[in-house]
Amino acid sequence: MAKKTVLVSGGAGYIGSHVTVELINAGYDVVVADNMSNCDMTCFEGVKKITGRDDIPFELMDCCDTAKVQDLFGRYKIDAVIHFAAFKAVGESVAQPIKYYRNNLDSFLNILDASIAHGGCNVLFSSSATVYGETDKLPVTEESPRQSATSPYGNTKQICEDILRDVIKASAAYGTEVNAGASAQGPVKGIALRYFNPIGAHPSALIGELPRGVPNNLVPFITQTAIGKRACLSIFGNDYPTPDGTCLRDYIDIVDLAKAHVAAVSRMLDGKMKKDYEIFNVGTGRPVSVSELVNAFEKVNGLKLNYKYVDRRPGDVVAIWADTRLANEELGWKAERTVEETLASAWAWEKHIAGIE
Ligand code: UDP
Repeated sequence: MAKKTVLVSGGAGYIGSHVTVELINAGYDVVVADNMSNCDMTCFEGVKKITGRDDIPFELMDCCDTAKVQDLFGRYKIDAVIHFAAFKAVGESVAQPIKYYRNNLDSFLNILDASIAHGGCNVLFSSSATVYGETDKLPVTEESPRQSATSPYGNTKQICEDILRDVIKASAAYGTEVNAGASAQGPVKGIALRYFNPIGAHPSALIGELPRGVPNNLVPFITQTAIGKRACLSIFGNDYPTPDGTCLRDYIDIVDLAKAHVAAVSRMLDGKMKKDYEIFNVGTGRPVSVSELVNAFEKVNGLKLNYKYVDRRPGDVVAIWADTRLANEELGWKAERTVEETLASAWAWEKHIAGIE
């Protein structure tokens, strides 16, 4: 049987590069499209080394460019799309909402439009646990209600989920009275994966997270402090109502997360979906506090980290972790790496980019 082709928009970035590796390992052909707005070629070169594939098609393009996206779908026979191409800095989105709404919505609309125009597609949207907001009903299931987003970034995740749901609904109704006037030409099916906190790097240390400027996320800040790029890690708040006073999160290994995408794509392409639009949590189901994570990093890597407790960061939720049963049962996927393995990989990657190892 001919190999299926998966378009990975934003495929040169942190999550996209790990997903590209796992898709190729699983036997898919991959087309990577990226405008390089938040990355350089380091990870794409790493992907080629890890997979031993020098021929992965790379399209330097912005998914906000409608004509280019249409053209792309005309040149490749795309069986599924994984859409990552989006801005992701929460603070920046608060300061520049128009930039976030325009970029994150336009690029997704273009992908959906082109998918439909070229005969339909299976669409995997990269969503986030941020849609659940603050809740004391933990762990969260896919049925847990979404809360109003606290940032334009978070809102774009909710809006894109809704766009996907509505487009799929319209596509299912194509040709019926409800949708008589619609221009839909091909069926669309889709899955939204709601990520918890992706961390770590590929075990080869050839791909990983490359934050620009001062990292917002915890683990890149830890590794940059350990290597001496940052003087001291600030732990935001130790007076939360949690066992050690610091926030609880569900840190999911990046390779495990990437494998969840392969499982979801296979489910779509193999006709295993139970509904045309499905949602899955992608996490470990295991809450870990900020202090626990810092201690585990020190222990597994045999070093001491310079850190201090400071005030809470505005907007942080106290605790969130996933109920992973649906993904475990339906996708046949489960997070496997331990948090220690993941933190060792994050440190190996930091040393790799510093040229130490
Ligand atoms: N955090 C911290 N110091 C930092 C960055 C993050 O203490 O420099 C904490 C943050 O308050 C949260 C957790 O680490 O409790 C995870 O934060 P991150 O920004 O990585 O992900 P979030 O869950 O906020 O999306």
